[in-house]
Amino acid sequence: SPVIVWFRRDLRLSDNHALAAAVSSGRPVIALFILESGNDGALPYGAAQAWWLHHSLAALAKRIEHLGGRLVLRRGPAAEALPAIIGETGAAAVHWNRRHDPDGIRIDSALKATFRVDGIEVHSFAGQLLHDPSRLKTATGGSYKVYTPFWRALSADGGPDTPIDAPSHIQSPSSPPSSDRLEDWRLLPKNPDWASRFATVWTPGEEAAQERLRTFVELRRDGYGHDRDFPALDGTSRLSPHLAFGEISPAQAWQAAWLGTGTDGGDGPVAFRKELAWRDFSYHLLFHYPTLASQGLDRRFDAFEWRQDEAGFRAWTRGHTGYPLVDAGMRQLWVEGYMHNRVRMTAASFLIKHLLIDWRRGEAWFRDTLLDADPASNAASWQWVAGCGADAAPFFRIFNPVLQGEKFDSDGAYVRKYVPELARLPARYIHRPFEAPKAILREAGVSLGQTYPEPIVEHRAARDRALAAFAAIKG
Ligand code: FAD
Repeated sequence: SPVIVWFRRDLRLSDNHALAAAVSSGRPVIALFILESGNDGALPYGAAQAWWLHHSLAALAKRIEHLGGRLVLRRGPAAEALPAIIGETGAAAVHWNRRHDPDGIRIDSALKATFRVDGIEVHSFAGQLLHDPSRLKTATGGSYKVYTPFWRALSADGGPDTPIDAPSHIQSPSSPPSSDRLEDWRLLPKNPDWASRFATVWTPGEEAAQERLRTFVELRRDGYGHDRDFPALDGTSRLSPHLAFGEISPAQAWQAAWLGTGTDGGDGPVAFRKELAWRDFSYHLLFHYPTLASQGLDRRFDAFEWRQDEAGFRAWTRGHTGYPLVDAGMRQLWVEGYMHNRVRMTAASFLIKHLLIDWRRGEAWFRDTLLDADPASNAASWQWVAGCGADAAPFFRIFNPVLQGEKFDSDGAYVRKYVPELARLPARYIHRPFEAPKAILREAGVSLGQTYPEPIVEHRAARDRALAAFAAIKG
């Protein structure tokens, strides 16, 4: 009888332990993907990720066919789709790689219990993180709330297992079960096709993920420690959407980081591994605090008086705040489904501290628009910026979007790329167009309030307001 390999956010063939074990059992393999929706009927993907999912599934199906197998697509819920396939095919076992988000854990535990009663074998495997989130414990047996000791524990633990290769053949059952047509799932946007620019920047799928990792190691890894902070430099790996869909495993990235280096790796490789560990740390937090996306870990923030400011929120989402670095980031997000980390911090801080808009609204917006949207990293990062998280920037530390721009995008190359109406401003004013003399604005073709907005809040006043709001809950 065949074995089902249930693919989820692990759309890869290499370093896939669930698949490898199924193939080595010698039994025919049914490769299955289930489009699950939540209780409210919504997909567990934002609009941008639906685009990625479509292309990633197409790429996975091709690779599986190449090895002699077939990818079967079914609609969820899994609690119905899996028993249906088992009934149709007589499959006696289901393999999957463990998920670590609260919804995934809940669904998987319920299925395990049901299958145990029905006599169906379930084999679950690790591989989506460097370490299982319950594995690393503090000296007193608790969970970590601060990154640095977590990193120390993780690195002392010896790193993840060596990644395994993709199987060389996948044997399908003689009569494989029927599959939905990917096109019928309508994951791609139409009218308007707002995702049209995504394909100029991204290629979903395992092969593209491996290629990105290779070029990162070859060209950018050694300078990563410095370059990663400058949004105009192509200094980071841009592996995040590939990691979010599991097209590449963190163990593969972890291992590649060290290729060809000495035992101590060097600055770039160490810095890169530390960032991969932030992803694990976020999952560690989500595992121990399942409400990470909906409740500040610092409960004093329950009483925080967030402002209802629809105009401000809209200006932020569109990249019309009048602060060029924030606007460039929000527009990069819109056209590329991605934003550089330094700018994510500045843009998120602006929403929370300059506009005093609830961080959860920003988290939700990012979840819908980021190709790398991740339940752990997104929630943990928003809490970090808001100052209500575990190992967080204190609320009173308020990023000045002008100074951030001048420090990390000093010639304005990043702003010029994404806010073209400012492209002709001299570097001196590119991050503060509102201070430029009229003649300079005129010469650059900028008309404040017309071609580019005046700042929607004044920095100093916004800062004072934020500090006062924080003082009210500090108690
Ligand atoms: P690199 O610098 O090349 O880093 C390599 C990998 O390490 C990344 O792909 C990512 O998996 C991991 N990583 C790096 N930084 C972080 C971090 N701070 N936290 C967790 N993991 C990290 N990252 C997401 O993957 N999904 C999200 O939804 C997400 N939301 C964010 C929201 C905010 C407000 C902020 C400030 C950051 C967020 N990040 C998120 C973290 C970070 O910005 C991205 O992981 C990074 O920009 C991705 O680009 P890269 O792959 O080139 O990263």
